[in-house]
Amino acid sequence: MAEPLAPAPAASRPGSVRVRVPGKINLALCVGPRRDDGFHDLATVFQSVSLADELTAAPAPAGVVTVAVHGPGADLVGAPEDNLAVRAARLLAATYAPQAGAHLEIAKGIPVAGGMAGGSADAAAALLACDRLWGLGLPTEALLDLAATLGSDVPFTLLGGTAVGHGRGERLAPVEVDHTFHWVLVTSPDGLSTPAVFRRFDELHPPDTVPAPVVPDGLLAALAAGDPVALGAALRNDLAAPALELRPDLADVLAAGTSAGAVGAMVSGSGPTCAFLARDAAHATGVAATLQDRLPGRTVYVVVAPASIGFPHAGRG
Ligand code: ATP
Repeated sequence: MAEPLAPAPAASRPGSVRVRVPGKINLALCVGPRRDDGFHDLATVFQSVSLADELTAAPAPAGVVTVAVHGPGADLVGAPEDNLAVRAARLLAATYAPQAGAHLEIAKGIPVAGGMAGGSADAAAALLACDRLWGLGLPTEALLDLAATLGSDVPFTLLGGTAVGHGRGERLAPVEVDHTFHWVLVTSPDGLSTPAVFRRFDELHPPDTVPAPVVPDGLLAALAAGDPVALGAALRNDLAAPALELRPDLADVLAAGTSAGAVGAMVSGSGPTCAFLARDAAHATGVAATLQDRLPGRTVYVVVAPASIGFPHAGRG
């Protein structure tokens, strides 16, 4: 059984392991036909952004996994036993370390239910942190196998950076990107359910009309060239139309970003976060200021991509 709260801040405990995990955007999210298992085949390009959660795993008695969640949206995360990080730690223990236990503490920075894979990132962080905490030293491939059983986005959030994803998004080919891109993210006070967005996609697209998904021409070349204008033109999200039907207010957000001068504008994943590509850091600051002005009540972030997973110093015993 998960317990509601860790009794003391995990970060301050001797021997704890801290992991900083970035959220993601999908530069392309091309959705294919619905499969027999209910999932859709995807061709996607994931990229981590510098909006991150921080998870700390501290020692706990055998068989005990607890969690405490702090930060914006923590109240929306749900019960400890449903927390994806707890499920990840339990799965790792059941598979490789039946006597292990951990207190998890999560500081949310990634918007909850924002289409940025926050829960998946926490699951990935729990796998990485508990692997170290319990001295397992598992190869990445073993953690990726567990990640794929936890959710479609968990494998990518375990790797970070940039990757092309196929299957449900769990079959990954990492992409080396040497350039930094500057994005402005606008979050929404209300979340959007990913399954609801896929259901609307299915209603809009009868099964025989959906072709096999393909990453758009030019997107990987734009990434390799570090060309934000070309990247902005190549962005694609097949879930944008169903997300906009469920949340018509997002059309105003996208229009505000385009008129603020962004070189690319899209719904992030299944939404409702919207992402705007800028030419450079100064341009991103300007676009963000305009959006904050025009969209009172929404939170605006300036981020860079790709971002990577980090292991900041935690309590050492
Ligand atoms: P999805 O991965 O379904 O696309 P998302 O990226 O839009 O989701 P998340 O922040 O992962 O958004 O939240 C989706 C749901 O997962 C929320 O309803 C939340 O209650 C649940 N959840 C479980 N564990 C976590 C966690 N550690 N952090 C955030 N949400 C979590």
